[in-house]
Amino acid sequence: MTDNYTTTDGGAPAPSNERSLTLGPNGPILLQDTYLIEQLAAFNRERVPERQPHAKGTGAFGRFEVTNDVSAYTKAAVFQPGAVTDVFVRVAGNASERGSADTLRDSRGFSLKFYTSEGNYDIVGNNVPIFFIRDPIKFPNLIRSNKRRADNDCHDHNMVWDFFTQSPESAHLVTLIMGDRGIPRTYRHMNGYGLHTFSWVNVGGEICWVKYHYKSDQGVQCLTQEEADRLAGTDPDCCQRDLFDAIARGEFPSWTLYVQIMPFEDAKTYRFNPFDVTKVWPHADYPLIEVGRMTLDRNPTDHHTEVEQAAFGPHNIVPGTGLSPDRLLLGRSFAYADAHRARIGVNHHQIPVNAPKVPVRSYSKDGRMRVQNVSDPVYTPNTVGGPVADPARAAEVLWAADGEMMRAAYTLRPDDDDWGQAHTLIREVMDDDQRERLVRNVVGHVSNGVREPVLSRVFEYWRNIDPEIGQQIEKGVRANLNQ
Ligand code: NDP
Repeated sequence: MTDNYTTTDGGAPAPSNERSLTLGPNGPILLQDTYLIEQLAAFNRERVPERQPHAKGTGAFGRFEVTNDVSAYTKAAVFQPGAVTDVFVRVAGNASERGSADTLRDSRGFSLKFYTSEGNYDIVGNNVPIFFIRDPIKFPNLIRSNKRRADNDCHDHNMVWDFFTQSPESAHLVTLIMGDRGIPRTYRHMNGYGLHTFSWVNVGGEICWVKYHYKSDQGVQCLTQEEADRLAGTDPDCCQRDLFDAIARGEFPSWTLYVQIMPFEDAKTYRFNPFDVTKVWPHADYPLIEVGRMTLDRNPTDHHTEVEQAAFGPHNIVPGTGLSPDRLLLGRSFAYADAHRARIGVNHHQIPVNAPKVPVRSYSKDGRMRVQNVSDPVYTPNTVGGPVADPARAAEVLWAADGEMMRAAYTLRPDDDDWGQAHTLIREVMDDDQRERLVRNVVGHVSNGVREPVLSRVFEYWRNIDPEIGQQIEKGVRANLNQ
């Protein structure tokens, strides 16, 4: 007899982990073997549906400490001087699947959950400051073009470039990803960005627009395509393992959080639309302001409950913070919560990694996997002392909007174009070596399966970004195709 005995999921002692219950040594297995049935049934249900994008990833717990005073811009408790807040962070691939290598050329997910004293605040960002598209109606098609074909269930660079070249707003991020930063060396050696323009409101009710940047204190390091290809074969989980092992060794990675602040009125007349998520705000116009430091110091002990079931969403906002007219942000503020409802259920916020560290007093009730008891009253308004909404405490960030309903692009401003910031990245940020690697990366990618009529559009796309780079890419691809 041992005290460390296996049990059924109901807690009763299990009969055997070696032998099924059979009729004699050579007879059939009996339906009476309820333990066997429980084991096989539980195994069949081990996987929850994987995320559509960002399926392969890892996460860690830590804390965020405010190091500067930004109270002039926001009243959010999490950003007040001296505040220390627990966080959970998930970093992940983008179009990758759960079995994908960590070294694919793509953006990476970088999502933060702050367990603040006013409820959970999620910044669901990436390791790049911009996105491929600016209207959420294109999002499912963007992801489909980067996933698998219908007929052979394989990836296909032809459909990737088919989508991108017909979506010129992708040029900036495609350029960034085809450059060095398209393959981070580890999750510790990449920056994070909130991507979107968000809003903040201060105690006086003044609203400003804000962009988040978290710069890696480890520095930015990237892999070459050749290094990445090798690791994809020898250690496809290299980034996931690196983060876990570093924390286990006590080498806690950290990031310094900065914001760019745009006064509310500036947005009306700025030279390009500041809510267009395919563009950055140049630092010269809106310099980085330090806010604090985030340190990751605790690994998950169960990947499934703490990482796979982690649910981030831009709808999780707290007093002093808010959304903005950024269309993609508004689309995501619905889509992420809905993805979690579909993937892990309507009560996903009750799973410990998602649960706020403050009391929840909502009138949401019942549904699959509800584990927190609901008590009366179950409706509002009521005369029996149930909680009532307090708009002053919620401090929603609201702004004026009026107009006719239509399906239209953002109104164009003088510097609203799809190619300009991609060109700046190539000519003013990259050096000669980086430009050479950019060309090599694009040539390699395009030479692998892109056909006419998409091929000609790829050359035109790159000539629009930079005529010289476009010419070099066409020359390189044609040479490969003629071999
Ligand atoms: P700055 O010179 O002030 O900033 C350049 C930025 O580029 C830095 O933030 C740097 O990040 C980042 N960077 C350096 N190398 C690369 C690379 N290979 N790929 C992508 N980013 C890189 O210029 P501006 O603010 O005027 O922006 C110029 C261009 O820089 C933009 O068009 C955009 O493409 C890119 N950029 C701008 C950012 C912004 O928020 N303004 C953020 C990231 C990129 P770091 O300091 O961490 O090394």
